[in-house]
Amino acid sequence: MAVVGVLALQGSFNEHIAALRRLGVKGVEIRKPEQLQSISSLIIPGGESTTMAKLAEFHNLFPSLREFVQMGRPVWGTCAGLIFLANKAVGQKEGGQELVGGLDCTVHRNYFGSQIQSFEAELLVPELASKEGGPDTFRGVFIRAPAILEVGPEVEVLADYPIPSKQVLYSSSAVEIQEEYAVPEKKVIVAVKQGNLLGTAFHPELTADTRWHSYFLKMASEAGEETSNTIVAVSRV
Ligand code: GLN
Repeated sequence: MAVVGVLALQGSFNEHIAALRRLGVKGVEIRKPEQLQSISSLIIPGGESTTMAKLAEFHNLFPSLREFVQMGRPVWGTCAGLIFLANKAVGQKEGGQELVGGLDCTVHRNYFGSQIQSFEAELLVPELASKEGGPDTFRGVFIRAPAILEVGPEVEVLADYPIPSKQVLYSSSAVEIQEEYAVPEKKVIVAVKQGNLLGTAFHPELTADTRWHSYFLKMASEAGEETSNTIVAVSRV
């Protein structure tokens, strides 16, 4: 059975593990630096990035996480996890928080506003369409979500979100529209890939749709094949 590490300091790690289980993959909770040595790919879940950073600092995880990324291991950050992977985060208090980095992009931590301005949106994601002509859209759950404002030349944009001039705010029952609020009218990037790094501003683990998890597992298995090919090549010399 394939195994994927899930950073389990805070946030939606259980939901990621459940999504992996639905695909027949074991998610292993990672809390200590040495545990990173037993896995070859990692998911950093959504949650609250400052709290997660404080816990990561407490457990002395930053050096090992950086090393894991620099070794080219597949890592997927969702929401707060995306913030962790970004080279630069804006929209936070002076000094900010420590980041793992590696993903050449600038992320705005709370681009869409506060918790109450959370929303769902249908995203166009051509990469998720199956060869058999399956849907190329994905229902993104954005919770106090970040957005990617700038990307470097090596970053592939997998999805963006054309912000409507008025974002609709629903009541907690998600039925009745409470009010509309204005957000800047432009497109922001919400899913990216750079080599073996994947970042999504939304929460696929909170939906029943496992296509993003399958996408990441494919990245991980391709990276694994590359590594074993290298080992074979080296051992044949
Ligand atoms: N904006 C949040 C943060 O700064 C992330 C929200 C989330 O992961 N749902 O951590």
